[in-house]
Amino acid sequence: MAQAAGAARTVILTVDDDPGVSRAVARDLRRRYGESYRIVRAESGATALDALRELKLRGDQVAVIVADYRMPQMNGIEFLEEALDVHPGARRVLLTAYADTSAAIDAINVIDLDYYLLKPWDPPEEKLYPVLDDLLEVWRSAEYRSVPTTKVVGHRWSARSSAVREFLARNQVPYRWYSSDEPEGSRLLAAAGQDGLRLPLVITADGTVLVEPADAELAAQVGLATTPAARFYDLVVVGGGPAGLGAAVYGASEGLRTVLVERSATGGQAGQSSRIENYLGFPDGVSGAQLTDRARRQAAKFGAEILTAREVTGLEVDGSARSIRFSDGSAISAHCVILATGVSYRQLGAPGLTELTGRGVYYGSALTEAEACQGQDIYIVGGANSAGQAAMFLSRRAKSVTLLVRGSSLTDSMSYYLIQQIEHAPNIVVRTGTVVEAAHGTDHLEQLTLREVASGRSEMVDAQLLFVFIGAAPHTDWLGAAVLRDERGFIIAGPDLTGGDGHPPAGWELDRPPYHLETSVPGVFVAGDARAESAKRVASAVGEGAMAVMLVHRYLEQS
Ligand SMILES: Cc1cc2nc3c(=O)[nH]c(=O)nc-3n(C[C@H](O)[C@H](O)[C@H](O)COP(=O)(O)OP(=O)(O)OC[C@H]3O[C@@H](n4cnc5c(N)ncnc54)[C@H](O)[C@@H]3O)c2cc1C
Repeated sequence: MAQAAGAARTVILTVDDDPGVSRAVARDLRRRYGESYRIVRAESGATALDALRELKLRGDQVAVIVADYRMPQMNGIEFLEEALDVHPGARRVLLTAYADTSAAIDAINVIDLDYYLLKPWDPPEEKLYPVLDDLLEVWRSAEYRSVPTTKVVGHRWSARSSAVREFLARNQVPYRWYSSDEPEGSRLLAAAGQDGLRLPLVITADGTVLVEPADAELAAQVGLATTPAARFYDLVVVGGGPAGLGAAVYGASEGLRTVLVERSATGGQAGQSSRIENYLGFPDGVSGAQLTDRARRQAAKFGAEILTAREVTGLEVDGSARSIRFSDGSAISAHCVILATGVSYRQLGAPGLTELTGRGVYYGSALTEAEACQGQDIYIVGGANSAGQAAMFLSRRAKSVTLLVRGSSLTDSMSYYLIQQIEHAPNIVVRTGTVVEAAHGTDHLEQLTLREVASGRSEMVDAQLLFVFIGAAPHTDWLGAAVLRDERGFIIAGPDLTGGDGHPPAGWELDRPPYHLETSVPGVFVAGDARAESAKRVASAVGEGAMAVMLVHRYLEQS
């Protein structure tokens, strides 16, 4: 059985099959954390799991688990996977030899590993303690929110129940899910005096009962900040996707009093991506949720205030102040504003598609689902370059790709080079004048009904994967005429405002032309997908967020 020391109840557990290494890790941990934490040591995955279960039954908390990768019977990843079931809140570190780094990187996705530490970890002051300090802080802040026992009672076919779960998950709020038709779910409903007709029911850690709560009410009750701490800031960032988070990190780290306002959950589109493959520094990809969690913590660490579930509905200029108005009518002001509200991919309206989105039906970015296409007959909707590029990309793996185009040909909407490539690809079929009439499937997409526009004839085809590329719409309607936007609603900035003649836009009163990411209103900048001509990539959104902050400094110096 594991050996324990110290009286404190919160535990740091370490497991290594080499007794010498195991003792050395425990010794180093005890030296730094022994006063505040109980260090528990085990020499195999099985004994460590026994120890974890025992701790669970006693109600002890486990803050961090440090596991060796190469252990007989059960390796470190397998062990951590099981440990996660027992203590899901514990932060996870894998101890590896240099040769095992790729396995450790895989583990980042498999078990949501927080860190892998290379052996030897000497000197611990440089290599071990900073990692542990960070993880303990993360663990404590999750505890501080004190909502690990928030309960959600809902039903899997209730759309609002799914939306609430997603909201909590995307905001990293731990909760327990109970189906309303399970005994414990029924007991909770009864205790709250509910008949289960209005779902979900959310019971917060302090026992407050919320029935079908709206995002803002839920956010406030589970400890997410929804109210600004001040009336005036140096910088307000609207939107908490990669561009907004990038701006918040750089703004706050460079000393600007920064507030970020997000209407739903931080992460934006990237937060919904199962794996981002092309973000610099992550050769094996990174899940959007993980990237978001880190960025959010980073922004908070530098002192950025993050307001969640607050929608911005107006932008006003009052002298040198720029104000943003919330949907409840209240407002905050700042010297500068960065608009980072991103886009949503346009949805197809056919019956069945909404229910199957994410379960065989995908919008916007097919690349992350490429693996799933191996050997499959797949369908793509769209006649523009994005659909063409996806068809070419996915045809490398798919058995066949059918491109469904509403119009009568591709020539008006797609680049010539792509049309040529598609014509030469042996496994791509283009069906012009064809639309998706309905999608069918219970748990996932199984069939599509296709209709020929001219003849009205319908046919049912087997399909497990459908990718839709029918354009993106920016979240900018709320801006009205406050800043110049292009005909599709994207915000125009910098050189694009001055047109070919180099003249600034009408109403521009400064002697200088607009800075690169500056909109038609001085001091109001745009970053990421919402900008006209933007790249629609995570890296470019983050980069523009950082660059916009640099321009904010320049604006503040000169105004
Ligand atoms: C499924 C999927 C997978 C993807 N995969 C990749 C990939 O692998 N690689 C890659 O480079 N790119 C990928 N992308 C594209 C990438 O995610 C986007 O380019 C990037 O997220 C853009 O960042 P952004 O901050 O500009 O906007 P968004 O991510 O769209 O974030 C905007 C945020 O602003 C908030 N917001 C909007 N309006 C308001 C308002 N009025 N008030 C307050 N908040 C508001 C939204 O809720 C949202 O959180 C993917 C996109 C999707 C949908």
